[in-house]
Amino acid sequence: MKVAIFSTKAYDKVFLVQANNALSQPHQLIFHDVKLSAASALLAQGCGAVCCFVNDTVDATVLQQLADFGIKLIALRCAGFNQVDLVAAKKLGIVVARVAEYSPHAVAEHALGLILMLNRNLHRAYHRVRENDYSLNGLLGFDMVNKTVAVIGTGKIGQVFAKMVQGLGCKVIAYDTQPDHALAAAGIHYCSLAELWSQADIISLHCPLNSQTHHLINPDSIAQMKQGVMIINTGRGGLIDTRAAIAGLKSQKIGYMGLDVYEEEGNLFFEDKSNQLLQDDVFARLLTFPNVVITGHQAFFTREALTAIADITLANITHFECGDRAKMVVVDC
Ligand code: NAD
Repeated sequence: MKVAIFSTKAYDKVFLVQANNALSQPHQLIFHDVKLSAASALLAQGCGAVCCFVNDTVDATVLQQLADFGIKLIALRCAGFNQVDLVAAKKLGIVVARVAEYSPHAVAEHALGLILMLNRNLHRAYHRVRENDYSLNGLLGFDMVNKTVAVIGTGKIGQVFAKMVQGLGCKVIAYDTQPDHALAAAGIHYCSLAELWSQADIISLHCPLNSQTHHLINPDSIAQMKQGVMIINTGRGGLIDTRAAIAGLKSQKIGYMGLDVYEEEGNLFFEDKSNQLLQDDVFARLLTFPNVVITGHQAFFTREALTAIADITLANITHFECGDRAKMVVVDC
């Protein structure tokens, strides 16, 4: 099948070409570095499928354009699907497939990395030593053992993360609309959100972004949290009301924040903007806090994950072409 691939980076091309060459019947991959949007959708003309990533625009307007070109499949090369208007896709008869699981370890390990970096001030220590400054003032951390870590969303990533922090001797509490019985049996205590806010020393977000979880971290939930709480977000930017988080950081209610995702990341992440002036004042304010660490949506970015993403994305396209829907990971509304 001829596939238009949007938001292509050099690393995407390497892994997708490698996986495609290993297929008995390779697809025709057309790489575009631009994001999918109403302005770029025309590039998909003549293709049977479109492959896109987290910050591509896949709203009703774009889907209508793609449907007019005869596109029947959106193959997401990511797990989250909040960027797609699923209702519009269904109406237009466009199938949406995703990569449900590629490496939950990649994201869970990144979340743990952010926790340890913030707790032990590794980001500040790194620069201090390079400046010939070996003083320890301001670098005081805390032991992880016996701390209460809360996991919101105990799906594939949340489960791996919960077990990792349990291994550090933390008490793990969790909230999920569909609690996992095996995880509960392993000693993870499911509780209400109110209980979670009041008990957690560290809160890590692993639920999808949807209408129920949008701005889950907001002035009201922050007010219920412990003084000095650490918030980690490797889920999606929209889970946090960034302005409320900034207010929480200024009042010191929030003691630490580690972000791999940001509400308005679509205008920033995945690009080298080092020769441009930062125009996002909210993001600029976040960058001023010494107790905030931000990475640019890189939690998924491991060799193992990119290999699996390429393999599963192409398998979804092959199954679609062969009419083998049961083998695809289809997203429905
Ligand atoms: P998953 O579908 O396996 O798990 C999501 C869990 O969230 C499920 O158990 C579900 O029941 C739960 N959930 C749904 N609605 C909820 C709600 N309102 N409150 C609490 N829990 C709720 O997904 P996953 O593979 O574990 O991924 C989780 C999220 O991580 C994805 O949706 C994606 O947004 C994000 N993600 C980020 C990166 C990254 O690079 N930063 C990479 C992959 C995934």
